[in-house]
Amino acid sequence: MAECVFCKIVAGQIPATVVHEDAQAMAFMDIGQVNPGHVLVAAKAHAENIYALDDDQAAAVFRAAARVARAIRAAFSPEGLSVYQANGRSAGQTVFHFHLHLVPRHPEDGMSLAWPVKNPPREKLEEYAARIRRKLA
Ligand SMILES: [Zn+2]
Repeated sequence: MAECVFCKIVAGQIPATVVHEDAQAMAFMDIGQVNPGHVLVAAKAHAENIYALDDDQAAAVFRAAARVARAIRAAFSPEGLSVYQANGRSAGQTVFHFHLHLVPRHPEDGMSLAWPVKNPPREKLEEYAARIRRKLA
């Protein structure tokens, strides 16, 4: 899947602000930023959708998502945190690689998500990621 943008991120061919990485899952901040702490969690091996995940991949992705969600809560004290799964044609996306969005809600954001989303500058991402990584330790 050389053309898959997420596989390129996993392979290090596209720079990413990585929050967490283990043998089967990676969490990063570069795509689809909505607000401070928004993180994407993907299976490292290519799986187009939830049906394509084997049990170990599914466990790894959701375990990583839960750990990172707790770290986001500790780092940013958001009002709430939503978990979205949206990829593939049915979601109108061009990424065909299973991933979860962890989207903390901050009071100033209200309930609306703006699309396309704005991206904070790289140094902001690095600062957010460092805050989350410290809480994962
Ligand atoms: Zn992929």
